[in-house]
Amino acid sequence: MKPEDEVRLKALIDQAFAAGAQGQNFMASFLREKGGVAEQDKPLFGAVAVVMNRYDLMMQSGLLARCQHLAGVGPQPMFWVPFAPHLLRCFECCKVVNEQIAGTVEDRTCDACGTVEEEGFVYSCAVERPPVVLARPFFRSYGPVIVHFGLCRVCHKTSYPESP
Ligand SMILES: [Zn+2]
Ligand SMILES: [Zn+2]
Repeated sequence: MKPEDEVRLKALIDQAFAAGAQGQNFMASFLREKGGVAEQDKPLFGAVAVVMNRYDLMMQSGLLARCQHLAGVGPQPMFWVPFAPHLLRCFECCKVVNEQIAGTVEDRTCDACGTVEEEGFVYSCAVERPPVVLARPFFRSYGPVIVHFGLCRVCHKTSYPESP
């Protein structure tokens, strides 16, 4: 690798690492504030895998756009919600879209199976996918993606059998 490429790559890795740390901060505060389930990338099963497969398909489809705040800036955490799946959002835009459904039926709908729960019975979950750095075909880095979703009681139980 050419020395200047090595420098570029190292800078991208540093940026991606910083964005990853921001993502982990979000995940930690999510756990504190929402009392939900938050986890890093690890083998997922049950309803969580259903939601993450949907995210992966959307990502691979090439149809997933990014909000204007994520375009043309260095890597930063990006957010994805299954009920508005066409866009990767920055933190603020994700907050807005979540506020839009607060108190609606959508807010009580399980993102894995579609069951509509009573008020207060949807479990908030978040899964983080780590940042990505590419050297080929272009030098590029992407921040972590945090997938943010809600599960009904049954789906939550099957995904996290050990939790209360
Ligand atoms: Zn935005
Ligand atoms: Zn469900």
